[in-house]
Amino acid sequence: MRFVTGIGVGNRAKGASFAAMLSVVFMGVLAFVQAQAQSASQAAEIVTSLSEHSRSVIGRLSDLDHLPAEEWRFHASDLAHGESTDLDDSSWQMAKGRLETSKDTVWFRRLVVVPQSLNGYDLTGARIWFSFHAHAHGPVPEIIYFNGRRVALGDDLEPIVLFDNAKPGEKILVAVKLLNTVDTKRFGGTELKIDFAENRPNPEDIRLELLSAALLIPSISKDVTADTATLQKAMDAIDLKALDSQDQAKFDASLKQSRSVVEELKPLLQQANLHLTGNSHIDAAWLWPWTETVDVVKRTFATALQLMNEYPNYTYTQSAAQYNAWIADKYPEMNEQIKRRIKEGRWEIVGGMWVEPDLNMPDGEAQVRSILVGKRWFQKEYGVDVRIGWNPDSFRYTWQLPQIYKRSGIDYFVTQKTAWNDTNQFPFKLFWWESPDGSKVLTYFPHGYGNKDLDPVRLSRDFVIARDHTPGLTDMMDLYGVGDHGGGPTRAILDEGVRWTQPDKIDPTMKFGTAQSYFTDFEKKIVSDPRIWDYDSIAKGYQPPSTPPDGKAAIPTWKSELYFEYHRGVMTTQADHKRNMRDSEEQALNAEKFASLAWLKGDPYPGNELTEAWKKITFNDFHDLAAGSGIARRERCACARSESAGVGALWTGDGGRTIAGRDCARHLCA
Ligand SMILES: [Zn+2]
Repeated sequence: MRFVTGIGVGNRAKGASFAAMLSVVFMGVLAFVQAQAQSASQAAEIVTSLSEHSRSVIGRLSDLDHLPAEEWRFHASDLAHGESTDLDDSSWQMAKGRLETSKDTVWFRRLVVVPQSLNGYDLTGARIWFSFHAHAHGPVPEIIYFNGRRVALGDDLEPIVLFDNAKPGEKILVAVKLLNTVDTKRFGGTELKIDFAENRPNPEDIRLELLSAALLIPSISKDVTADTATLQKAMDAIDLKALDSQDQAKFDASLKQSRSVVEELKPLLQQANLHLTGNSHIDAAWLWPWTETVDVVKRTFATALQLMNEYPNYTYTQSAAQYNAWIADKYPEMNEQIKRRIKEGRWEIVGGMWVEPDLNMPDGEAQVRSILVGKRWFQKEYGVDVRIGWNPDSFRYTWQLPQIYKRSGIDYFVTQKTAWNDTNQFPFKLFWWESPDGSKVLTYFPHGYGNKDLDPVRLSRDFVIARDHTPGLTDMMDLYGVGDHGGGPTRAILDEGVRWTQPDKIDPTMKFGTAQSYFTDFEKKIVSDPRIWDYDSIAKGYQPPSTPPDGKAAIPTWKSELYFEYHRGVMTTQADHKRNMRDSEEQALNAEKFASLAWLKGDPYPGNELTEAWKKITFNDFHDLAAGSGIARRERCACARSESAGVGALWTGDGGRTIAGRDCARHLCA
């Protein structure tokens, strides 16, 4: 479940003035880190302290990478052939910026023209991509037409080429039909991204390289003054007067000169290592029932497998045994492909649990069973022993979790939900999380679990924040890929990642890889800080770990639960479902006891039936189900599953007879 999306820097502030862009980048940075923001604030200072010319440079380059297309003609209902080039749309209302529409089919139209000059830049030979943003608490099915011809149909569409080898004066009529949706639709604007002609230096790449350097220098440089001077020199080299006079050759020469200067900073920037870990957060049920999730899983896994064929360095990371079990059961050929990718080390299994449950309300035994059933399934089907706990979206985390994980053979934990806290922020990114019994797991808070870009500026900003929290940190894992309703990494995201992993780029070291490869690399660099923190001690004032020796990273220990200050009401909403969770746990455990006694008398032990019951029980512990944070329909659906779990669990061992009839009647909550 996702109600907030973190800092919006990933959605680059196209067309914003430099001041506005800086405000987005750095206020985002500063708002997110309430403790130890020295490096981030230094990064803000370093750019704002650069010359007026430098600020203009970044602003002007920012205005070159997209065609402005803010105003659209809008028709609030369906009509025949709204895509027709002969249609007179002059009576349609104008839509600009964000617009809420109905649930019905609506149309948008606009004539897009390649300008003679975009803010002084000649776009001849550029490729211009089109993407249209709308949502209705989820993707909106849409049809896109260029000059009356259908070019795309679907939801969550990737950008489409509008102009290939653009020529000034070229025109295309774009029409977008948004189909019926369950919820009200919202128009979120369009994006016309420019890929510059390949025979010219790329102004957007240079802008991102300069900004990335500006962010990283204060955090990782040992000589900030000298490196800032180099950055300033690179900014100064860019000739804005040549752009004003539309002298393309002179402007290009200045870009090349700038890049040759910033190249000197490359060894420094590459000290930051960014592990790009593709994944997809799939909610087992939220705004949809679990039956739809089966299809979501199938489409997400099929996309991941397809993209592995196209991108040889791409790895995919996925949790929840239930999802793989659906695929093994319904699409065995796809499961065979997954097995091959697992053997190659490119498909990574994490989590170990049956689904990603709420990690506060289920009984401890239910959490243990979720791992037991999940890990056994992965071991049997794939020969994989899962070692990374994975639950980025639960609404609170019990203090016993490190103990449960550690005793289940899990050594690492990835989550991030507490970063959404509305009041107090944890000052950690990497830490030992220790249970009352002393068991501890190495815990990592990534910046979100579904980043939709691999933009080096966004990544550099996240790295600086992570390093503020973990002194000496040189490695960060980024979780990218569309999530909640599945999806995973897209071709557009992977293209961006591939582009920025090329050796000619002046950026941090970026490489695709699994979560395990990240932990294995990072673990060697840990220096544990002796201080142990909990809510009482941290309220008195947090002291970050001391700066460790070069090449090492200092991490503290947290010895308490992880309380989430947001999504309140989750402990009381959908009380029937919560009662069913508890009843099912008690009944299943009682059934096991009675069945064990019966087994002592010679009856067969109903192990398979009980395992199947635990799968249903632990499925219903899924975080949005347990929290009651989704639609009512799937709660009713979950209740029906609870009932069947109860039938399976209430086994007396007395000739296979159940005593379920009376108890299960009250499980029906529809
Ligand atoms: Zn979720």
